[in-house]
Amino acid sequence: MPPQPRQKLSAFRERKERFRKARDGTQTLRSAFPDATLVNVHLLFLPESAPPHAAQSFVMYPAARAFFQYPCPYGDCDGVYELGAAATQALARENSGVSGTLECSGVRSRDGLQRQPCGLGVRYAITARHGPQHASSGTGVAAKPL
Ligand SMILES: [Zn+2]
Repeated sequence: MPPQPRQKLSAFRERKERFRKARDGTQTLRSAFPDATLVNVHLLFLPESAPPHAAQSFVMYPAARAFFQYPCPYGDCDGVYELGAAATQALARENSGVSGTLECSGVRSRDGLQRQPCGLGVRYAITARHGPQHASSGTGVAAKPL
């Protein structure tokens, strides 16, 4: 059998595929948290890494899946930031935000190096906006310009 240089790539794709399936199996924000109109997730990776990873920001509307897992930005790391509990806290309270820091618990496997713990830190901030309970009929979309 010849060596398979594509193996790393397929592992990465497999991770993405696993993610997509997990997300597709999650209920929508609308059914999980009926009064939530918007969720904003902001991830700021701590600058221990060089070069630093770009901050990530996600805005989620009621039709989106209530899925709050984010893969580590290192392509060779199998870690996942699990923000479901924090998001649930933000969504459980009216107009509130939750923030904190997490460390990646994944393992990186780079060429020529042994598998080593990743530990990349992320500072997260999750804010949820809630609509008035009685407005939950109709389209669910506020067409009012700001
Ligand atoms: Zn990682």
